[in-house]
Amino acid sequence: MKGQRVVCPHCGEQAQLVDGSLIYPFRPDLHARHFYLCAPCNAWVGCHSGTTKPLGVLADAETRQARIQAHDVFDPIWKTGRLTRTEAYAWLAAELRIDREQCHISMFGTELCRQAVRVCERYWAQQKVTTRSGRSTFLTRHVPPQAPRRSLGSMFA
Ligand SMILES: [Zn+2]
Repeated sequence: MKGQRVVCPHCGEQAQLVDGSLIYPFRPDLHARHFYLCAPCNAWVGCHSGTTKPLGVLADAETRQARIQAHDVFDPIWKTGRLTRTEAYAWLAAELRIDREQCHISMFGTELCRQAVRVCERYWAQQKVTTRSGRSTFLTRHVPPQAPRRSLGSMFA
């Protein structure tokens, strides 16, 4: 399996091309995917589907935290039924100008996470409803805070 030269941004060493079984042992559906891994930093990044082209920069724990933040602002768009999950991901992919099948927050680098948060915040800012009295009001998110996700597998949406 040949890969590109991908350097870990956290330590400067060259990352290793591995398959998904090493990263997500309990997600057989991801085992055929390629990842670049820096084991000492516990940092990795996924690849564009069917390629060894990285989706972004290797993510360490901090980046994975950014992905959780992106999920927290994105997921309520479909969890509250405003859009279906499929529609929401199609919308996000269009907003981020990436292919739908590459639109997985858990494969995003920090920059895509930041962009996703931005477009989702904008989405929520535009969620105006008209009350019975005819006044416009802004809907606020009403999603119970989630417990920290410890299982990496569950982060992959
Ligand atoms: Zn590293």
